[in-house]
Amino acid sequence: MPKNVCSFCGRSEKDVNYLIAGLNGYICDNCAQQAYEITKSANASKAKPSKGKKNQALKDVPKPMDIKAYLDQYIIGQDEAKRYLSVSVYNHYKRLEQPIGDDGVEIEKSNIIMVGSTGTGKTLMARTIAKLLDVPFTIVDATVFTEAGYVGEDVESILSRLLQVADYDVAAAERGIVFVDEIDKIARKSDNPSITRDVSGEGVQQGLLKLLEGTMVNVPPKGGRKHPDQDYIHVDTRNILFICGGAFDGIERKIAQRLNTHVVGYNSVQNVRKIDKGDLMKYILPQDLKSFGLIPEIIGRLPVLTYLNPLDREALRRILVEPKNSIIKQYEKLFKMDGINLNFDSEALDYIVDKAVEYKLGARGLRSIVEAVMMDAMFEVPSKKVKNFDVTLTYAKEQLDKSGLQEQAG
Ligand code: ADP
Repeated sequence: MPKNVCSFCGRSEKDVNYLIAGLNGYICDNCAQQAYEITKSANASKAKPSKGKKNQALKDVPKPMDIKAYLDQYIIGQDEAKRYLSVSVYNHYKRLEQPIGDDGVEIEKSNIIMVGSTGTGKTLMARTIAKLLDVPFTIVDATVFTEAGYVGEDVESILSRLLQVADYDVAAAERGIVFVDEIDKIARKSDNPSITRDVSGEGVQQGLLKLLEGTMVNVPPKGGRKHPDQDYIHVDTRNILFICGGAFDGIERKIAQRLNTHVVGYNSVQNVRKIDKGDLMKYILPQDLKSFGLIPEIIGRLPVLTYLNPLDREALRRILVEPKNSIIKQYEKLFKMDGINLNFDSEALDYIVDKAVEYKLGARGLRSIVEAVMMDAMFEVPSKKVKNFDVTLTYAKEQLDKSGLQEQAG
């Protein structure tokens, strides 16, 4: 073999950047790079055993009360949903650890469905739980499910995202949490399946059903399958916890209808008295989801049903300042990094909340309003030699009027 030639591509020393010498030959920088890529991709496509996150021992999993206390730091109100979620997540981990004895008892999975208007904290709740538990977490939109069913690319892509956040640790991904948003959007338009074929309904729900039930999905390796014989990664969804969320606009009507039909019967007088008409959501039952258009099989796979309250003025005011990473705390931190103490007057905060209510933007709106109020200050103040910056009611009003947000919000 001639000296100073790459043993892989045959190029000589002068044709490459450098050659690395081995015992009986050389490899050029280009071939070394290629070899690295091939090894990386081969490793990724192998269903390698979990190295990092081993089965989390139950004693290490926070207790429901601890989970709730953690959620309290980030999420305002929604006590009912927090309790349900804390218990379900804890039970989920119990289920994963359950001793396989001869008692014949097998704890089944308790996927969760949260009903509540948009912007009330459903996603935040799921995300916060995942952060606490340090498990792979991904958010998907239910509308990605197509009639193609579970073999469709849609389901693969969900799991491929979960694998990605799990750093291709298959065992970790298989114990992860998937938040399926907008599940109400795949509801059948009519409670009666025989009326017409409904493209947004049943077939699409079947795709999701497979995933919830537990199925083996073949996910292409990182970056897609480059060769026909490259192995798929097999992901079992049996132990993945699914948390579904949806606004279910108009479901109160279904609840009211059901309550009305019930109160006609005997015992009606007591029942009528107890019903709080202003907050029908708290009476939600699985059958209301069926009336809304979810197929019974899906409802059966989402045994934990809870609701989130609409955010009132007081809740919005608290959201602005109280959570551990509240919007106001984030701006204070931004200013602090320039050595400036930022202060919001109480009336200015009330004004921001009023505007969020007026624009009907909910908690999501708070951020855009504060951003509009603070834009000029964030531009100017870092170049000024000031130690304090006060956001007064007058200042907040002026800035918001100037921003044009009002016109955009319509
Ligand atoms: P949903 O999923 O219900 O549509 P999100 O969880 O995405 O709503 O909420 C949008 C944003 O509003 C969150 O990022 C958060 O800043 C804020 N938010 C909503 N509800 C709450 C709450 N109960 N407590 C604290 N922040 C909230």
